[in-house]
Amino acid sequence: MSISKNELLQALATTAAGYFSGNPTPPVNAAAVMKMLAKGLLEATENRLEVTEVQPAVPVEKSQGVDYMVCLECGRSMRSLKSHLRTSHKLTPADYRFKWGLPNNYPMMAPEASALRSGISKRVQKKIQTDPTVNKGGWPGRR
Ligand SMILES: [Zn+2]
Repeated sequence: MSISKNELLQALATTAAGYFSGNPTPPVNAAAVMKMLAKGLLEATENRLEVTEVQPAVPVEKSQGVDYMVCLECGRSMRSLKSHLRTSHKLTPADYRFKWGLPNNYPMMAPEASALRSGISKRVQKKIQTDPTVNKGGWPGRR
């Protein structure tokens, strides 16, 4: 498979833009990162076998359910990916998004789980603000 220099540069620009937007990089390191990305792209385009080897466990479009997220690394489904990625794959959300070419707004938590969590926290806050029987700070039993 061959790729033109223009195509390669375009792919590099796209990859780099995605990488830098998810990973703040000091300017002194930017050149090294670009070199690494270019090398990776060249290897990936020269050896398509390598490209097909790195397949997500499930297609990206099937990785998000209403109340679950599927880990593209291992195919396990869970409500929140963040701690799983850190403990099982030693990946940050930014690394994960970069590795699988995911958009920066790709969620780390299932929509329903995250709505539930913010809903609970809003209800709790409201109760604290409006309910006079709720102990506002201090230890229980001491008023
Ligand atoms: Zn996993």
